[in-house]
Amino acid sequence: MTATPMPTAPSPAIEAVALRKDFGEIHAVDGIDMSLSPGRIYGLLGPNGSGKTTLIRLLTGLASATSGSVKVLGVAMPSRSNLARIGYMTQSDGIYPELSVWENLSFFATLYGQTDKAKLHATLELVELDTRAGTPAQDLSGGMRRRLSMACALAHHPSVIFLDEPTVGVDPALRVQFWDHFHRLAADGATLLVSSHVMDEADRCDELLFIRDGHVLAQGTPAELRTRAGTQNLETAFLSFATQPRAGSAASATPGQPKESHR
Ligand code: ADP
Ligand code: MG
Repeated sequence: MTATPMPTAPSPAIEAVALRKDFGEIHAVDGIDMSLSPGRIYGLLGPNGSGKTTLIRLLTGLASATSGSVKVLGVAMPSRSNLARIGYMTQSDGIYPELSVWENLSFFATLYGQTDKAKLHATLELVELDTRAGTPAQDLSGGMRRRLSMACALAHHPSVIFLDEPTVGVDPALRVQFWDHFHRLAADGATLLVSSHVMDEADRCDELLFIRDGHVLAQGTPAELRTRAGTQNLETAFLSFATQPRAGSAASATPGQPKESHR
């Protein structure tokens, strides 16, 4: 009789070990360990100044860590070649104001090897900017600029996607379409880390990481976090985790990992 092999966990898409980033006295990222599985949407939730943008910049390799390490798809970051497999929508629209919608999109797509015009048009349709291809980015509304930034982040079909507050200023109907698309990308195997300072979209994520003062307070599915905190309200759950003694300061759990298994 042959033994049934034990199922092996998939290799993490995003890993951080003891990750820290100091700006002088400010511990923007204060010792984060994380291991995020492929094909899932993770919500990175925390108030302004909690370290979301800094963490994302460290994970993309665009900022250098004070200490600790990051791997994306098994490759130590920073790695220039690995950037082609990563999409990053910045919080502050990193697009060129004097270039048109189409020029911005083709510039960023070409950087990462995507030159298929039909695919670029499809990406513009997704963000409902296909009729604005010739418009200079500086003449777009704030919401349209967010949509162009998203198109630029997704055009090269990355496997790991970081979206920093992607739906701020985007109208509710298009938000729904964005989330439907995020779920399609995850179903196709992509891993998404989506930051937000509000909880209103938390239930659209497979799993949440609550972050405050540069460390992860709790990680789990929305249902698990509600159960652990004993409340249906995720805002209240966040506050209850925020008032607990910091994990890792006692022998309880490693920062960034829940006390009990969440898988
Ligand atoms: P969030 O994205 O959650 O709003 P940030 O990562 O932008 O948080 O900021 C975390 C902390 O790090 C804040 O206290 C912020 O002021 C500080 N910070 C971020 N970037 C810099 C920087 N380049 N220089 C100095 N302080 C910074
Ligand atoms: Mg931010």
